Formats: sequence, structure tokens, C-alpha cells
Amino acid sequence: MGKLDGRVVLVTGAARGQGEQEARLFAAEGAKVVLADVLDELGEPLAKEVGGLYVHLDVSREADWTAAVATAKEHFGRIDGLVNNAGILRFNELVSTPLEEFQLITQVNQVGTFLGIRAVAPEIEAAGGGTIVNTASYTAVTGMAYVGAYAASKHAILGLTRVAALELAGKGIRVNAVCPGAVDTPMSNPEGTDPEAVGDLYRTLVPLGRVGRPEEVARLALFLTGDDSSYITGQPFVIDGGWLAGVSVL
Ligand code: NAD
Repeated sequence: MGKLDGRVVLVTGAARGQGEQEARLFAAEGAKVVLADVLDELGEPLAKEVGGLYVHLDVSREADWTAAVATAKEHFGRIDGLVNNAGILRFNELVSTPLEEFQLITQVNQVGTFLGIRAVAPEIEAAGGGTIVNTASYTAVTGMAYVGAYAASKHAILGLTRVAALELAGKGIRVNAVCPGAVDTPMSNPEGTDPEAVGDLYRTLVPLGRVGRPEEVARLALFLTGDDSSYITGQPFVIDGGWLAGVSVL
């Protein structure tokens, strides 16, 4: 028995990184997965491999959500889970951040999450209830220099998560957020820096002494999507190797 047998879950940003691992794990746990992304050349073969459905979905575009939901329903008959995982990151000092960059990050991370909740919640309700997991970040609960626009969007995702949890509880929909620290994906290492050098950095920064793995975030998303979290809604879950536990002098 899989933990998601009979469920239909849409995962955004599923072509690589954390979304890819969520799609793989959810499929292995019995879910029918709708893999959504803008990287069609990665997403399509992955969907085939895990027995899911690939849809081209730019989360920042309202029309794309309408089309993706229609395609998913046509294929699987319903949707009862959503993982809003797609996101983008840019590094910049706040006072040097161009307005277009701030707005782009807001549009993908924050507006994309809002559009996802709005498009899919009615489908989950119609399916008799289910779950939404939003991907925030440790920068949703603390600050970090040079990621002002990103941190603002991730703080907003926590606000959306809490409000959605309140409004959707009566419809049988639980809404929670994952808040990863540093996780080894193309986002955190866009230059493809030598894994040894990355390892050295996190050995000193993170109490558990290493960068996180996307598979570990996927397991948290599985917990929040499955029945093991049946009495949990409206909460942020930090997964960061202890980075936010406090200041360490060790
Ligand atoms: P990633 O860059 O490897 O994957 C992100 C995926 O989102 C990609 O497949 C990308 O094509 C897709 N995407 C980007 N813009 C999109 C759009 N407009 N519409 C649809 N898909 C889009 O990064 P990741 O680390 O796997 O990131 C997943 C989520 O985790 C993001 O929300 C990110 O902000 C969050 N996060 C990552 C880390 C980290 O250290 N990697 C830490 C905290 C939070």
C-alpha cells in the first residue's frame, strides 16, 4: 500500500530539483502525478518515466492554470492534491534591485502560488477534500542579505498558506508550507560549483554539517500530502539541518 494510493496530485516546477523528487516519490507512493513546468524537454520524459502526465504550465500565467487543470481533469478525472513548488531566485542588494526583477520574482513565486491555490482548491473540494503544500523557504521566516525580493515573496507565501488554511478547512482541504534551508539543486548551485566546495561551505554553516538533499524535502512534502499529517493545517515546516536553531559557537 502506498501512502498516496488513489490520489491525483499536481506538482509545479516538477521537471528538476525538489519538484522532480516530489513527483518521483509521490508516484512511487501510488499517486497519479501531474508534472507541471516550463522546461518541457526535461518534464516530458520524466512524466513518462514515472507514469504521470506532463503539462506545460507557467505558474505566473492565469490562462496556463486554467488549461492545466482542464487537461489534468480530462486525463485523471479529478485533482485532490497540489504542491506549489515552482520558484525562482535572484541575488541582488535591495537598493540595486531593478523593479522588473522584483516584480518577476513576485509574479512567479507569490502570484504563482496564489493562482495555483485559486485554480486547484475548487477541484480538490469537488474531489471530496485533499491537500495543498506551498513551497516557501527559510527566508520566509528570517532575513537573508541579497535576496530581498525572494524573501518578500516567500514571507507572502506563508501568509497565503495561513489564510488558505483558514478558508479551506471547512471544505476538507489542508494547507501547509515547507521552508527548506539550503538544498542541493540547480537553484542553489546554478554555476555547477564543485560539490566538494559546496560541501565545505555547508559543513561550517549548518549544524548538521551538510547541504540538504531534494529527496529530503520530498519526504516532508509527502508527509504533508498524505494522511500522516491529518490533523495539521496552516503551518510552516522548516527543513534546514538546524540552520535556524540559533547561533552556534561550536
Ligand atoms: P530548481 O531551480 O532546481 O527548480 C525549480 C523548478 O521550477 C524548475 O524546474 C523550473 O523550470 C520551474 N519553474 C521556474 N519558473 C517557473 C514558472 N514560471 N512556471 C513553472 N515552473 C517554473 O530549484 P529547487 O531548489 O528545486 O526549487 C524548488 C522550490 O524550492 C522553489 O520554490 C524554491 O524557491 C524553493 N527553495 C529552494 C531552496 C534551495 O536551496 N534549493 C531553498 C529554499 C526554498
